[in-house]
Amino acid sequence: MGNADLIVCRDVSLGYEGQEVLSHLNLRIGGGDYLCVVGDNGSGKSTLLRGLLGLLPPLAGEICRAPELESGAVGYLPQQTQAQRDFPATVEEVVLSGFLNRRGLRFFYTAAEKSQALMNLGKLGVLELRNQSYRRLSGGQQQRVLLARALCAASRLLILDEPVTGLDPAAAQDLYKTLNYLNRREGMAVVMVTHDLRPALRDAGTVLHIGRRGVFLGTPAEYLASPEGRRFREVAE
Ligand code: ADP
Repeated sequence: MGNADLIVCRDVSLGYEGQEVLSHLNLRIGGGDYLCVVGDNGSGKSTLLRGLLGLLPPLAGEICRAPELESGAVGYLPQQTQAQRDFPATVEEVVLSGFLNRRGLRFFYTAAEKSQALMNLGKLGVLELRNQSYRRLSGGQQQRVLLARALCAASRLLILDEPVTGLDPAAAQDLYKTLNYLNRREGMAVVMVTHDLRPALRDAGTVLHIGRRGVFLGTPAEYLASPEGRRFREVAE
């Protein structure tokens, strides 16, 4: 594993109860990378994210993670469920809860955590919503708040599962712009599962397509020229 590597997968198989969903995957995620993961429903995209997050041990092969990731330098934005959309807390409380993993047995947030939470809300353009009830926000505002929350956990890597699901096109574009900014300007590595090919191809450095006959890994241009890319583009657009 090189100095700049955050996660390296070597010949990894992932699955459940001995049944492989993904096999022989080789993948390297470095600092500042932007990887988009695409593929049909049920192909194993979320399973891969669980593996990268260390929530699902590989059936074979190895997933090496930089030591700094173990101490909570990863921010995760899972797919939102209805229960989460109705979460009864203020925006600021939701964002602060991003520090929960890091704070061990403390029962209070530090002043530094509070100011970083507010800074992240500002970065995402939703600081003025901080005292509002999270459940009353629009879908796009909620995703921004969750991204601010993920940033409290993340200093090096953001992992997002279908972050624009349910958003209108303008809100989705805003979210992609923000991710691009965090990646380009702040050097945050991004791994994003998405059905939305256009931003994947515009912003990402690497595309991973998980298909029934194995995976494709390459630049957006290589992906577009590949059989997987052509077929998927016809279906997705
Ligand atoms: P995607 O995110 O690409 O839609 P998933 O990673 O969610 O795909 O699922 C890949 C396969 O793994 C599917 O066949 C799904 O049924 C199976 N699967 C997902 N989660 C579990 C689980 N917790 N237990 C058993 N099988 C699962």
